[in-house]
Amino acid sequence: MDENNIILRLDNICFGYPGAGKKVLDHLNFSIHVGQKVGLIGPNGSGKSTLLHIVMGLLRPDSGHVEFLGQRPETEKDFRSIRRQVGLVFQNADDQLFSPTVLEDVAFGPLNMGMSPDQASEMSVRILNELNLNGFENRITYKLSGGEKKLVALATVLVMEPKVLFLDEPSTGLDESTREHIIDILNRLDITIVMVSHEYDYLARTTQTIYTLNNGKVEYCCNSEDLHTHYHSHPAGRMPHGHEDHR
Ligand code: ADP
Ligand code: MG
Repeated sequence: MDENNIILRLDNICFGYPGAGKKVLDHLNFSIHVGQKVGLIGPNGSGKSTLLHIVMGLLRPDSGHVEFLGQRPETEKDFRSIRRQVGLVFQNADDQLFSPTVLEDVAFGPLNMGMSPDQASEMSVRILNELNLNGFENRITYKLSGGEKKLVALATVLVMEPKVLFLDEPSTGLDESTREHIIDILNRLDITIVMVSHEYDYLARTTQTIYTLNNGKVEYCCNSEDLHTHYHSHPAGRMPHGHEDHR
């Protein structure tokens, strides 16, 4: 692929949590190209969430660099400007939602970017409608169901019109219709997407190329289309996986 087309590059990243012996990310290299829809799969505890937090600057690597559109963010201010263009839907929606009402949560980002309250409110209502959350504006966030919270969390990110969208296990704990709804939304989005999951099936339906995270490194796994027709060839080989969905 064209080197000039890289939107985000992780260059030789090493990271370990303080006090923990083993490195979670070990000389990890990974490049994402503009417009790509990428899946990243790895067993529990392999460092998927850690990797996303490094990309967003919520954790800093022990060594190595994050590059966004050729720039290397170093300071909190640099990462703040990146967070306007790179959105992360957290694994746990409760980590993303902190306002009393849905509208306040969704409008928080636009207000923070300097939009007027009217503008922020208009953008928020528009994105809520796009996600079929019409009429949710005044709902009390903490009283929403898990699936509704996940969709509102997605709205708080999409309202910022990110260039790159990272999703951390978006399908976990959702009922079938919300899972399908989110697949539909993601497939309609024309932006760069990186989706982290431990479910092949979900990744196969939402991404084009799948990578694995194992032993602290990202490696190419397969083309999602191949995965559709070869469910039982176990493309990730040694990686642990379940067979519940496609026996
Ligand atoms: P995944 O998202 O792939 O399940 P994580 O990135 O959450 O994995 O975790 C990777 C490893 O780092 C795991 O061994 C986990 O126990 C450890 N870990 C995660 N968060 C912390 C933390 N705040 N402090 C110490 N260790 C952590
Ligand atoms: Mg995780």
